[in-house]
Amino acid sequence: ASTVPFSALDTLDLRGTRLDHAGLKATLPRAELNFATAAEAVETIIASVRAEGFAALAALAKRFDGVEQEYTRVPAEAIDAALENLDPAIRAGLEESISRARDFSAAQVPGDTTTSYPQGATVTQRWVPVRRVGLYVPGGLAVYPSSVIMNAVPALAAGVGSLALASPPQKEFGGLPHPTILAAAKLLGVTEVHAMGGAQAIAAFAYGVQVPEGADPALSIEPVDVVTGPGNLFVATAKRLVKGVVGIDAEAGPTEIAIIADAAANPAYIAADMISQAEHAPDSAAVLITDSTELATAVRGALEIQTGTTKHSERVITALTGTQSAIILVDGIDEAVRVANVYAAEHLEILTVEPASVAARITSAGAVFVGENSPVSLGDYCAGSNHVLPTSGTAAFASGLNVNTFLKAIQVIDYPRAALSEVAGHVITLANAEDLPAHGDAVAIRFAADDA
Ligand code: NAD
Repeated sequence: ASTVPFSALDTLDLRGTRLDHAGLKATLPRAELNFATAAEAVETIIASVRAEGFAALAALAKRFDGVEQEYTRVPAEAIDAALENLDPAIRAGLEESISRARDFSAAQVPGDTTTSYPQGATVTQRWVPVRRVGLYVPGGLAVYPSSVIMNAVPALAAGVGSLALASPPQKEFGGLPHPTILAAAKLLGVTEVHAMGGAQAIAAFAYGVQVPEGADPALSIEPVDVVTGPGNLFVATAKRLVKGVVGIDAEAGPTEIAIIADAAANPAYIAADMISQAEHAPDSAAVLITDSTELATAVRGALEIQTGTTKHSERVITALTGTQSAIILVDGIDEAVRVANVYAAEHLEILTVEPASVAARITSAGAVFVGENSPVSLGDYCAGSNHVLPTSGTAAFASGLNVNTFLKAIQVIDYPRAALSEVAGHVITLANAEDLPAHGDAVAIRFAADDA
């Protein structure tokens, strides 16, 4: 078997340097997500779905997935059968994952807040779920039943009433999504599943697709308010293009792991965790940030050994030796924290002495994994946390999928007359200062009788 040669992983030696935030950001290794390359093809796909509906979806399913279909809706019997035939051990794993994710999501549901002002005035922020969501579960190179859970559980906890799920049709399963995806949907009570993938699935959710006259209207796809879920470049580009028509979650590019480790960390664990992310795809990134050259050397040795036996060694090696992956040498853990905050990893592991105190100083990351018994793989499946997380540095401003993704806040203003009277003069003054006197008049008219 081939291995990662000992020296193949890039080294970025930042010791003795003191780059500012922007300088560091420009220096750190990161693959660019090139939306421009897919934009033209995706625009064409979106336009064809809007113009031709199910005929376009069928043509694209044939072209990209190699299947014949007229409509996309997966029959209820197929979903039931998928759960009945599910391997009991996989079912137990999915159920454990669902249970832990439910607990974490339930704890996130925000309460309404009411602020009181003089004379009985109140302003309330009321959280309301969106009406309907479209959940995307990828299914091109691999199948991700765990992504069914990560999408649906927070939406259900938020109180969304209408959930639709899309996953690419699979040739070997009669044009339906993978049966484990159907079974996971059934376990969660999601009954509307569509066999559609890629940019066309995102377009169908954003704009809706109606059946022609005479066909069963239950086969139509109603437009949604929010589209969530990971996917390849075509899916990510389509989400970016329909944003504004619908809400979307964070954009998910190639997956990443960064690890802050000191001399005391276990190099075999670090190598295993880097390989576990590199296994996703050849463009995955794995970055080790350490102040110990001895540890860096030991990790290289461990990678050389472990890449020789890992199943997907070819794409693992491509990912680890790509320019997006590196070992970064820094002067001490304070500097490691600073580098990690600039990098803003999708997944960040802390493998140092007193990892919790290091983790507390992290201000940008999709998710932080604290200590040697909290590997990223745990979070991918069964920690309770969500695995749909911001990549490509977007953790500087974006959050992982969570209950809030599916909620909106309505501000409710309730002032009695006496309370309005208290601020009426200020409103009129500010309205006049903005040369919007009708605004002031709308307040003054309510007190006109008092002056008469
Ligand atoms: P996918 O479902 O995202 O995409 C498959 C679809 O892409 C096909 O059905 C087809 O419609 C479309 N497509 C393929 N080639 C095309 C082309 N040339 N032009 C237009 N459309 C085309 O599945 P995938 O490709 O396996 O990608 C899944 C991605 O999701 C991976 O990058 C994986 O790492 C990521 N992922 C991320 C997470 C996470 O939480 N961050 C979880 C699971 C998967």
